[in-house]
Amino acid sequence: MIIIISSRLTCRRKLGKIYLTTGVDVFAKEHSLGKDALELRKEEFDNLLEEKRGSIKGALTDQHLISGIGNVYADEILFQCEIHPKSKTEKLAKKENSGIYSKMRTVLKTAIKNEGQRSQLPNTYLTPQRKEGAQCPKCSGKVEKIKVSGRSTYFCPKCQEELL
Ligand SMILES: [Zn+2]
Repeated sequence: MIIIISSRLTCRRKLGKIYLTTGVDVFAKEHSLGKDALELRKEEFDNLLEEKRGSIKGALTDQHLISGIGNVYADEILFQCEIHPKSKTEKLAKKENSGIYSKMRTVLKTAIKNEGQRSQLPNTYLTPQRKEGAQCPKCSGKVEKIKVSGRSTYFCPKCQEELL
């Protein structure tokens, strides 16, 4: 049987992919994807972070752990929580994990509401200022770019101090 689906994909950064599958659950299982970020309950999120070692940025973007958080939104979630992207998951307090869970939901829902249009995000968001040397939307600091888990990462060193 041939089913023709009329749709289109526009991906300016050419990072998007199209797969054929018989269902979302089948696809997730075949690709060992973690549960969707917006379907995770708080307890499930806490358990995942408790078992994961390494940077919080690496944990949030690990699609086998949690699916649905890309590079840009992981940076935004951590900026909103004022947590340094290199912070080790094992060093984060329960209160910080709760903050990350809450901001993860807020940031993703805001992005979905704005259909991913970065210019439509609130002016307290880092994403529209995602450029090295740009002014932090919360303080007078300058946005910096580093590599975390092999990914370009933007953050404010004044708002997101690194815990040693
Ligand atoms: Zn700042």
